[in-house]
Amino acid sequence: MRPSLLDPLFAPITSLAGVGPKVATLIERVLPADLGDRDARAGDLLFVLPHSVIDRRNRPGIAGAAEGAIVTLEVRIDRHQPPPRGNRSVPYRVYAHDDTGEIALTFFHAHAAYLEKAMPEGEHVLVSGRMEWFNGRPSMVHPDHIVLASEADTLPPVEPVYPMTAGLSAKVLRRAIGQALERVPPLPEWLDTAFLRRNTFPTFGDALGRLHNPENPTDTMPENSAWRRLAYDEFLASQLSLALVRARVRRLAGRPLVGDDRIVARLRAALPYSLTGSQETALAEILADLTEPDRMLRLLQGDVGSGKTVVALLAMGRAVEAGGQAALMAPTEILARQHFATIAPLAEHAGLRIAILTGREKGRERSETLARLADGTIDIVIGTHALFQEAVTFKRLVFAVVDEQHRFGVHQRLAITAKGDAPDMLVMTATPIPRTLVLTAFGDMDVSKLTEKPAGRQPIRTVTLPLERLDELIRRMKDAVADGQKIYWICPLVEESEEVKLMSAEDRFASLKPVFGQRMGLVHGRMKGAEKDEAMRAFKDGETSVLIATTVIEVGVDVPDATIIVIEHAERFGLAQLHQLRGRVGRGSKPSSCVLLYKDPLGETAKRRLSVLRETEDGFLIAEEDLKLRGEGELLGTRQSGTPGFQVARIEFHADLLETARDDARLILSRDPDLQSERGQALRLLLYLFGKDDAVRLLRAG
Ligand code: ADP
Ligand code: MG
Repeated sequence: MRPSLLDPLFAPITSLAGVGPKVATLIERVLPADLGDRDARAGDLLFVLPHSVIDRRNRPGIAGAAEGAIVTLEVRIDRHQPPPRGNRSVPYRVYAHDDTGEIALTFFHAHAAYLEKAMPEGEHVLVSGRMEWFNGRPSMVHPDHIVLASEADTLPPVEPVYPMTAGLSAKVLRRAIGQALERVPPLPEWLDTAFLRRNTFPTFGDALGRLHNPENPTDTMPENSAWRRLAYDEFLASQLSLALVRARVRRLAGRPLVGDDRIVARLRAALPYSLTGSQETALAEILADLTEPDRMLRLLQGDVGSGKTVVALLAMGRAVEAGGQAALMAPTEILARQHFATIAPLAEHAGLRIAILTGREKGRERSETLARLADGTIDIVIGTHALFQEAVTFKRLVFAVVDEQHRFGVHQRLAITAKGDAPDMLVMTATPIPRTLVLTAFGDMDVSKLTEKPAGRQPIRTVTLPLERLDELIRRMKDAVADGQKIYWICPLVEESEEVKLMSAEDRFASLKPVFGQRMGLVHGRMKGAEKDEAMRAFKDGETSVLIATTVIEVGVDVPDATIIVIEHAERFGLAQLHQLRGRVGRGSKPSSCVLLYKDPLGETAKRRLSVLRETEDGFLIAEEDLKLRGEGELLGTRQSGTPGFQVARIEFHADLLETARDDARLILSRDPDLQSERGQALRLLLYLFGKDDAVRLLRAG
């Protein structure tokens, strides 16, 4: 049971003043926590950390305030000048002065009553905001803060700036975070005292306080002890929870899966190609694990296009030979269907009975599949999260494959474990994960790597092109289509009220319609599942040649004869994502190309990203570069560009803490495996605070 001390932090986010359902939805977008299907809680706000600060301590006086500078001015209000009646285009002006000069405070679409109350004539007030000089006259348009001089202490000297999302005002967010902070109870220390001292770490509560109410701009830097303390806490929580899961998984002994090779051999015979050397090696490692009585926990890591699926299929064949059932889980509907489409013909050839189960299978079809899973007449099932649902039971699930693991958490891993007879687990990921991250995300899993691409693959030619040359590009694409080639055309997701005018997938589809007509399809996240499938199918079968898509196709989609990918606004994507997208082509024997269409002017980081991509196709190199560039540049989306799977820890700043946290976790659990001691109880709180509720549940009651 969760200690009631934490209840206020676990209350829904809507329990905070000023946060209704609508604001809650907006706030959810800036939360670094991966909410899965739970609602946001007040405590989630604690880890929305500022990405920068505004220093409001600069008080140069009106005459000394430079153009564009953020300044705080103490002024006396002289007079209000509302716009003439009926003319809303003229701003409301408030004139004020200090010893050095006069300034106009300017408001568009102003509420007169509010301004009169905030700045009564004759009063001294503090205004803080950006200075503007126009024709030698100073003004401040919509000051960020207006406070009466008598209430000067309500103006933050150093103000944290949080990630934003359209429609959410900074004030509302700040206020919500402030309330969450007040709900942090006094907590017992869970870190070792000597260790704390050595690292000059503040307490958990003080660290949060310093990040959210900084006194100096340096307080909020990731290198600073406040952030490092929280990063360490998060690493420790994650290493503890991984260790607990592992201990639990090991407690359930597996059983040897031995086969006679009859199904595996038939599957192999049905393949139109032979396996690469590294596919053979990986398969051998997996089959060897399966033969062991211990449970397998293995990561199959391979760059995009390296051919992980077939390795998984052959291993599933072995599980069936051994008299069990196997499940393959994909993170999206599209991927599940694609896996099903590629695997079904091969599986049938080998006499396997296979089925698909996603949120879309309904009614009789669904209940039949469920019945056949339960009575064992299905050998292999392919699906999405739907496979974790209560109603799904297996006769004898002995082997589970999880594709694109980074989308699934420990929670799902436990859920699938619970479905089976201590199933062996194979986790596949196309994201090239640097070594440090494997440790954080997977703990001590065994790793197999696919280090080579299937033979005959041609390198992908990657070019960058400014958006101004779009017409030229379209002409070339037209020729390519006439030549029988298939093209992905990727558009970024567009937030509704984004300032920059971007082409959404739908806009691009409309604008290219006159060029490509019926040869063009569209797929984006807001379409219904069946429509998406249909668009994918038409493209795969060659009924369409151009597929306009958002990043829904990022992960794993396989259309081997697609040879061109155009990525529009490539400067807005992260490196890893660009690499994933590019990996959609270059999967067949024909030469492929990738066109990175960018909007000038390019920032330094964006320039670097695009050139890294031009220079190499090596996913591991790219992942390393990505980590280096992160933090400097912004990634697409409103979330903080933190390290995947973490809310506050950032591997590029905090990697040195990771190994210590792992060792710490081991030591703690070797002395106190069920976290019963005083420190153990405090560590339970830590686990809850970082959302590791599942891990706590694994502990024996006490
Ligand atoms: P990923 O590792 O990205 O999931 P896939 O499993 O989707 O890659 O495989 C990519 C493509 O390569 C598929 O079209 C698959 O049929 C093909 N493929 C897999 N292994 C080989 C091989 N040994 N030789 C030729 N093609 C292969
Ligand atoms: Mg794949």
